[in-house]
Amino acid sequence: MLMTTQSKHKFEAEVSQVLDLVINSLYSNNDIFLRELLSNASDAIDKLRFAALTDTKIDSSDPQIGIAIDKDSRKIIISDSGIGMSQEEMINNLGTIAKSGTKEFMNALKASKQEGFDPKLIGQFGVGFYSAFIVAHKVTVISRKAGSDKFTLWTSEAKGEYETETLSATQIDEYKVADLKQGCKIILELKTEEEYNEYLEEWKIRSIVKEYSNFIEYPIKLRTKDSENEDENEDKYIWETINSQKALWAKNKSEISPEEYKEFYKHISRDFNEPCDWIHYSAEGTNEFTALLYLPAKAPFDMFMPEDKKGLNLYINRVFITNEAELLLPQYLRFVKGLVDSSDLPLNVSRELLQANPKVTNIKKNLVKKILSKLSEMMSQEKEKYISFYKEFAKVLKEGVHLDFANKDKILELLMFESTQTESGSLTSLDDYISRAGESKFIYYITGSARKELENSPYLESLKSKGVEVLFLTDAIDEWVVMSGATYKEKEFKSAAKGELETDDKTKEQIKQKETEHKDLLETLTKQLEANIKEIKFSDRLTETLCCLVADEHAMSANLERLYKNANQNIPIQKRILELNPNHPVIAKLEEIFKANSNDTKIQDYAELIYGQALLLEGSQIPDLSRFTKLISSLML
Ligand code: ADP
Repeated sequence: MLMTTQSKHKFEAEVSQVLDLVINSLYSNNDIFLRELLSNASDAIDKLRFAALTDTKIDSSDPQIGIAIDKDSRKIIISDSGIGMSQEEMINNLGTIAKSGTKEFMNALKASKQEGFDPKLIGQFGVGFYSAFIVAHKVTVISRKAGSDKFTLWTSEAKGEYETETLSATQIDEYKVADLKQGCKIILELKTEEEYNEYLEEWKIRSIVKEYSNFIEYPIKLRTKDSENEDENEDKYIWETINSQKALWAKNKSEISPEEYKEFYKHISRDFNEPCDWIHYSAEGTNEFTALLYLPAKAPFDMFMPEDKKGLNLYINRVFITNEAELLLPQYLRFVKGLVDSSDLPLNVSRELLQANPKVTNIKKNLVKKILSKLSEMMSQEKEKYISFYKEFAKVLKEGVHLDFANKDKILELLMFESTQTESGSLTSLDDYISRAGESKFIYYITGSARKELENSPYLESLKSKGVEVLFLTDAIDEWVVMSGATYKEKEFKSAAKGELETDDKTKEQIKQKETEHKDLLETLTKQLEANIKEIKFSDRLTETLCCLVADEHAMSANLERLYKNANQNIPIQKRILELNPNHPVIAKLEEIFKANSNDTKIQDYAELIYGQALLLEGSQIPDLSRFTKLISSLML
């Protein structure tokens, strides 16, 4: 408990960093300060209404948000009838970075330092309350927590510190807050530079509210001169509602224009881009709800930051309940924005209990089904649009293949890859692959970091010569998608670099013959390389190259091994099979040398050279490079 009522505090270090950035006008868009403060006000009213569901002493009637401009003193005053904050809450909420929005901002910033991220993008980010300092040199917050009769004052000029105090009766009069039942009043003292003057103009405030806050559910009222009152000396003001407060989703689909949908998307997602598409529907029967879901067009750069992101908004009969991530959608659909309004969930259910509520589970199932079928429809009917969406979100969608077993095939159906038969940059679906593949039981793939590196891979030599199409899987997560045993429409995913390829009986017989022919040579080579490889054998995988390393059907590929190593993960070393091309002239030559002198150390050197080449071809490193190069040089001599 805080004993003193008046106190000076230092901002948490991270807050000071955020403030520095805000103040040094990193922002490309100053207007967002108002969006942020209005959305905080709206959240505070949401919280009040939620609290009123269980606490009858709380009066949540007549919710509203006010904006008043005082040109003479260069002030903008934003008030709300929300839940308010106690002194302790103010210290916690406004003096530290406890909140996700700001944390994301900090993470984005850290990421930006690592990878040349455009700082202008940060202008699209809300840093919540701290955005006030974009336009104000001093910010004062007066708050009365719902149910309390204390008023707390918080002031800061952002210079590393802030002050809080409990207001005395005289101060309550001075600040004209006596009639504030509960909520906050935020006073911004505008910076003196000319560029901020426009925020003292009504038209500017109206236009920002229209653009960013039109759909806030509570009336946003602007204090404006009463034009009917002609008495110039007597300032008469009226409060005019300047936002539409439409619950767009509750309207009939046919009455909503695409522009309205797009505008609402920007409101709900805080994305500056237009959405790729949307789904608006009502479910009836056992579970009644309306959903308005948006597929964004651009991936946010923080899509893979392990923060608990906000999920879909859940309303129960228009009362906002929660936007907890993963309550209504699985993680792999976290890019979907929007809301669900249910009419048959119990209003007084706690947020914790919602997760276990079977109705919520059903809604979730239904939403997933709808989204996947929307994507499938887009894929078949609006291919280009789908592909541009897919390129943004494929990495996330792919997580679903193993996380949502029930929908595995539906998700696989949505995946697209490059292949030996697509042009660079264009993609094919698995269905199209299958339709071209004829009788084959397999969907062939090869994994690596880029198409360019895979295109000329020796692992594809015989498949190419037989005209077999091979998918290029170049996302790290792809390895996981096609993990051993994975199938799609009864076709098994098969790596071109693992296990045995399909070989006809005649070729098998030829290989067997070659193995008998070179039995002793193969045994000697095996002995030399025993420590590194599992076995040596002839195969028809290669047609031009001498050798390659192949993993067992269910073992980890070299690509996956590298991914683990890059992530600093320790993995057990798995020996691979060294496959030789029996028709390569080097084999005949080796046999000659071997026959002439089977104890020659030359055979040992050649074994090392063969193994080294195979390592290089799979993209691995040669353990003793200097020895390897010496061997090559001596061979050249
Ligand atoms: P965020 O909105 O992302 O949580 P902010 O920096 O905007 O972060 O706000 C921090 C916290 O301060 C909010 O989570 C809320 O608890 C509190 N807060 C901000 N504005 C208000 C307000 N008008 N009324 C009540 N609480 C508020």
